[in-house]
Amino acid sequence: MLVGTPIGNLGDLSPRAVSTLREADVLYCEDTRHSRKLLSHAGVSGVPLRSLHEHNESERIPVIVDAVATGKTVALVSDAGMPGISDPGSRLVAAVAGAGLRVSVVPGPTAAIAALVASGLATGRFCFEGFLPRSGQERSARLGAVAEESRTVVLFEAPGRTAATLKDLARVCGSDRPVAVARELTKLHEEIWRGTAAAAAAWAAEDPVRGEVVVIVGGAPVGAVSMVTDADLRAALDVRRSGGERTRGAVDAVAAEFGVGRRRVYELAISPPQGPADLLPGPGGASAGPQSGRMEE
Ligand code: SAM
Repeated sequence: MLVGTPIGNLGDLSPRAVSTLREADVLYCEDTRHSRKLLSHAGVSGVPLRSLHEHNESERIPVIVDAVATGKTVALVSDAGMPGISDPGSRLVAAVAGAGLRVSVVPGPTAAIAALVASGLATGRFCFEGFLPRSGQERSARLGAVAEESRTVVLFEAPGRTAATLKDLARVCGSDRPVAVARELTKLHEEIWRGTAAAAAAWAAEDPVRGEVVVIVGGAPVGAVSMVTDADLRAALDVRRSGGERTRGAVDAVAAEFGVGRRRVYELAISPPQGPADLLPGPGGASAGPQSGRMEE
């Protein structure tokens, strides 16, 4: 049984969660000391606690599959919110279900959905990106994907990294992209900041962001014109190629750096400069080069 637990306010622990925890034969959790406090708040005692975290999930899986197969009720909680959402659990669920055994869920709060619905941004279509990679090409590529995403995007972030992430989002998504920052949800200092990406970056740079944070980014308007001009991209390509980089590597790096599609950069790389029209914004505008070129793989 996957059991959702509060993301800050113990009053959010559901009666069904309490009875499931009470009736479990064994409870797996990230941090036994943390979960013991939750059990004590819920008036549950006598349930054996075992740890299951990122580093021991693989070795726990066969033990848990065996326990479920022999008819034991195994409950899984994380430190907060729903197990499996940027927390351990999904590999275990895949293994239990893959063994043909029943997986059940007691739904509870998750910071991702709580933040999304309180953000005021569109909820009809959204995607969850979890934590962005901290640095390097992987981060640039994911930022680029967020910039081009037409659905609302939900991101988790550590407080100490929120200012940098908001600054990066303003750069790749454009200053005017709507953003919300949901902080300390369900807790005493709950705050939901709403505004543009540039204003969010300025807000976070002013004072250190404290507490737990979810960043919600409004989707890119469909057919939106990228803030990055073809001239910007050509200049970056020129720098890399004149430094000896091969076209393929330069295209990948520039696409990631500017958060734009690789096809657009590749088409610029293989087309001759086009004079003043090159200053028009892309993507796919008059300056975007041949539209039928095949992507180099
Ligand atoms: N499994 C959890 C869930 O379902 O909400 C998420 C766990 S993840 C390791 C922790 C991240 O969730 C935090 O860094 C923050 O981004 C977000 N978070 C958790 N509690 C929060 C809260 N009360 N307010 C805002 N964000 C929260």
